[in-house]
Amino acid sequence: MANEWKDLIRQLIQVIADGHGKSYPWEQDIAREYNALPLYGDMGGYLALRPDLEIIAIPEDPRDTMHVETDPLWRNVALVRGSKRFPQLAELIPKRPSDAHTCPSCNGTGIFTIPEMPALKNLGCSCGGLGWLPKE
Ligand SMILES: [Zn+2]
Repeated sequence: MANEWKDLIRQLIQVIADGHGKSYPWEQDIAREYNALPLYGDMGGYLALRPDLEIIAIPEDPRDTMHVETDPLWRNVALVRGSKRFPQLAELIPKRPSDAHTCPSCNGTGIFTIPEMPALKNLGCSCGGLGWLPKE
């Protein structure tokens, strides 16, 4: 199983590195420089999946301070976001543990909304869209 994931992730990395699949330039850079599949990016940096199934965090600046992401919340965010684009990755999203907390920002729906601004529907919730938060 681990080898199948390796092959799949390597293939996806190659697609992005080659500039296919509607990838952004920053995604191509990450695929090429880190041999990792970019899953999520925001103002602070990027999260990417390596073929060994580690998720790495790459700060926007400086880029050379990359580290393996161990925070389960950020790992979940990366996998949930990433699996929207690469549905094959959905199997990597962890099942809700029995000691998880229901996310207070979205009340477990995974969809964060602001009642005063109903038009804003596509806001990402801090739980990554899972509706629960890992125990500290
Ligand atoms: Zn939430």
